[in-house]
Amino acid sequence: MGFFYESFYVSSRDLKTHSHILIIGGGLAGLTSAIHLGRAGIKVTLLEKDTYPKHKVCGEYISNEVLPYLKTLDINPSKKGAVSISELLITTQKGHHIQSELPLGGFGISRYTLDHFLWEKALAVGVEVINTQVIDIQYKNEYFLVKTSDNLTIRGTYVIGAYGKRSIIEKALNPKKISKKHPWLAVKAHYTTNFNENRVALHNFKGGYCGLSMVENQKVNACYMVSYQSFKKYKSIADFQKEVMYRNPYLEAFFKEAQPEFDKPLTISQINFDKKNSVENHIFMTGDAAGLIHPLCGNGMAMAIQSAQILCELLIKDYKNPALFSREEIEKQYCKQWSETFSKRLYAGRVLQRILLNPTLQEVSYTVANVVPAVVPRIIKQTHGNPLVC
Ligand SMILES: Cc1cc2nc3c(=O)[nH]c(=O)nc-3n(C[C@H](O)[C@H](O)[C@H](O)COP(=O)(O)OP(=O)(O)OC[C@H]3O[C@@H](n4cnc5c(N)ncnc54)[C@H](O)[C@@H]3O)c2cc1C
Repeated sequence: MGFFYESFYVSSRDLKTHSHILIIGGGLAGLTSAIHLGRAGIKVTLLEKDTYPKHKVCGEYISNEVLPYLKTLDINPSKKGAVSISELLITTQKGHHIQSELPLGGFGISRYTLDHFLWEKALAVGVEVINTQVIDIQYKNEYFLVKTSDNLTIRGTYVIGAYGKRSIIEKALNPKKISKKHPWLAVKAHYTTNFNENRVALHNFKGGYCGLSMVENQKVNACYMVSYQSFKKYKSIADFQKEVMYRNPYLEAFFKEAQPEFDKPLTISQINFDKKNSVENHIFMTGDAAGLIHPLCGNGMAMAIQSAQILCELLIKDYKNPALFSREEIEKQYCKQWSETFSKRLYAGRVLQRILLNPTLQEVSYTVANVVPAVVPRIIKQTHGNPLVC
């Protein structure tokens, strides 16, 4: 077991090495884990299929609950232009609106900037980052062998699965799992327009919802999720926006006024909210690989970061005192803490999604929220955590 004092970046080449911890995927969960473990002096190798910086389909609103933890890792998003956000506007398909303060508030920053920033931090604390795609993970005799698409084989004592919501590796790990059709797709682009920077807006339309919020450099992120069923009747994104989304007057005003910053919007499909396991084949799952909360809750990124914190604290205890736990005990503790921390939030997200996608329930909620405004922050709290204790 060695310590890494230098930062380095290894491009794809034939390499056979051993790392105490291998991290598969360098999104928020993977990079936060890498930084936390790297700072503790543990040899970490992170394998990421894409290069940084890169735009990602995401609402780009992060709950402030993660700030105390990020501070302990010397990560300050405001250094990269993150915008503080403190209020929420929800509109119904008919254009009625509910306004509320966000109990904890949050900040807006693009994934292009944030993931790149964390990658640089990971390199600076000595994490080995390899740009490659993992295609197989085998566990045998207390070790993992991880294989990549460019024929690398890397050995590790522990593996963290931080590969997000859709990865080819899922199929390799669960060949018998029958893949269901997942009915959601998502579209995202940045725009320039006049926009209230303190606000995150959630505008409903038939079959989906669109989040608008400010990120760094005075850009507005528009990110929407829509059921494939609603979308497939239209020939293009432009047609869909015009025919369906414009029926909500807030969305019509936004898209007519805003100037797109991307040549064309980014899209992803087959988004899946199925229940997952926090440990699978002895691999510790973090972030979306362990479970995806409905994006309208705006808490997926906080969950990715917090799951990294929970796991890293256990792995560091084990590293400092290997006699303390067996592998099975760490797995058991991680599953327990993951479930205690996130299960209620995931459930609340499922309920909220059902309400907001139903036009009748939307209007009922609008009436209730106007009569009892305090109900909205209380519901938001159910889908978020408390500030992370460090
Ligand atoms: C439409 C939409 C809007 C959202 N809006 C918000 C929001 O506003 N606020 C919020 O908090 N959350 C939001 N989320 C959720 C949030 O994006 C995720 O919860 C978060 O990105 C999870 O981070 P992660 O690290 O688990 O996964 P990711 O950020 O997806 O990272 C996974 C990484 O693994 C890499 N990878 C995958 N497979 C392999 C492989 N085989 N080998 C090597 N690398 C691999 C990928 O390239 C990627 O970099 C939204 C999600 C969606 C779909």
